[in-house]
Amino acid sequence: MTFCRDEHVWIPESDLEGMSVDTLAVRAGQIRTGQLEHSDAIFPTSSFVYGSAAQAAARFGGEEPGNIYSRFTNPTVQAFEARIAAMEGGEKAVATSSGMAAILSTCMALLKSGDHVVCSRGVFGTTNVLFQKYMAKFGVETSFVSLTDQAQWEREIRPETRMLFIETPSNPLCEVADMAALAALAHANDALFVVDNCFCTPVLQRPLEHGADIIIHSATKYLDGQGRCVGGVVVGPANLMDEVYGFLRSAGPTMSPFNAWVFLKGLETLPIRMRAHCDNALELAQWLEAQPAVAEVFYAGLESHPQHALAREQQSGFGGVLSFRVKGGREEAWAFIDATRMISITANLGDVKTTITHPATTTHGRLSPEDKAQAGITENLVRISVGIEAVEDLKIDLQRGFSALEK
Ligand SMILES: *Cc1c(COP(=O)(O)O)cnc(C)c1O
Repeated sequence: MTFCRDEHVWIPESDLEGMSVDTLAVRAGQIRTGQLEHSDAIFPTSSFVYGSAAQAAARFGGEEPGNIYSRFTNPTVQAFEARIAAMEGGEKAVATSSGMAAILSTCMALLKSGDHVVCSRGVFGTTNVLFQKYMAKFGVETSFVSLTDQAQWEREIRPETRMLFIETPSNPLCEVADMAALAALAHANDALFVVDNCFCTPVLQRPLEHGADIIIHSATKYLDGQGRCVGGVVVGPANLMDEVYGFLRSAGPTMSPFNAWVFLKGLETLPIRMRAHCDNALELAQWLEAQPAVAEVFYAGLESHPQHALAREQQSGFGGVLSFRVKGGREEAWAFIDATRMISITANLGDVKTTITHPATTTHGRLSPEDKAQAGITENLVRISVGIEAVEDLKIDLQRGFSALEK
C-alpha cells in the first residue's frame, strides 16, 4: 500500500475555511491511508522508499513532492502541523522536538549576528536564558522590557531591531499585552512580531488575527494537556515557515512521529479542556480573592485585573493559569504548597491535573534578584495551573494550605 496524502485527505482543505476551531481541532489535517482507519495513523519510520532510481532522484531533486527521511518530513508530523496551522489560522506550521526548539529554530532561521531583539521581561525562564546566554554568543543582543509598558518597547527599538518577542498572558502574573499595538510598532520598524501562545492556545486567542507574524507553542503544555510528551511548533506565513523548516531540516530538532500522534489526540479535546480550565480558574481566582490569607490574586478574568478589558477583547477565555501572593514570605508560601495533598507540586503547567509551584525558587529561580524584583516574582508568590478536576475538590485541597497558615 502506498501512502498518498493527496488522495486520502478526508475533508478537502477548502471545506475547512471558516470552520470553528472546535471542528478544526478534530478534523483538520486528518490523513487516511488505504486502510481507511478512523483514528489518525502513526508512521514510526525514519525513511521512505521509492519505486525506482528515477523517482528517488526526483524526490531528492525536489521535482516530486513526497517523504524522504523523517528529519525532513513525516506524515504523522505533517498531520499535526496541518491541524495546528488551521486552528491558528496560519498558512503553515513547523513542528519541533520541544517548545524551546521552536523558539531556537525561529531565531536561528530569521535572525543573524548584529540583529537586536526586544523581549518581554516575564517570559518563560529558559527563553530568557536562550536569548541572554546563547543568542548573545552569536551576536544577537536582547533588551528586556515590561510587557505592558508600550513606551519602554518604543524606547528600546534600535535600527538593528528585527524581532519583538512576547508571551501573553505572562507567566506567572497574567499580564496582558496589547498585541495590535506591539505588532504596529514591530512593522513600523521592519521587525517580526513573535507571540508565544502557549498559555491561551488557539482556542482562546489567535495572535495572527492581532498582527503577530509568528506563533510559538510549547506543545508540551495544553496541546497535549495530559503530561505525556515534550514538543513544540512554530506557525506563520509560508515564506517565514520555509526558512524555519530549512533550519530544522539541517539542525535536526524535529518532532518524533509518536509525539506528533499524541499531540494530534491532544488537540482533539483541546477546546473542551480549555473551557473546563477557564471555568475552574475563574471560580478559584474569585474564591482566592476572598481569602483573608491572600494579599493579591493575578488572573486576567478578575475585574480587579488591570488589563481585564484588553484580555476580554483579545481572548475568548482567560486561561487556566493564575497566581497569588500569600501574606508573608517564602516560609508561608512553602507551607501553603506543602499542605496540599492532591494537587501536584510540579512546575509543569497546562495539564488536566492541577499543579502548584513556587516561581521564585523553581521556574524563575535562575533570575537574578534584580530581575525577579522587576518581574514581580516575590517570595510569597504561588502559581497554580488549574486542571479540570471538580472545582469543589480543588478548594478542599487549597483550604488545607490556608489551614496550615492559620497555625
Ligand atoms: C514550557 C514553555 C516553553 C518551553 O517549552 P518546552 O516544551 O518545555 O521546551 C516555552 N514557552 C512557554 C510559555 C512555556 O510555558
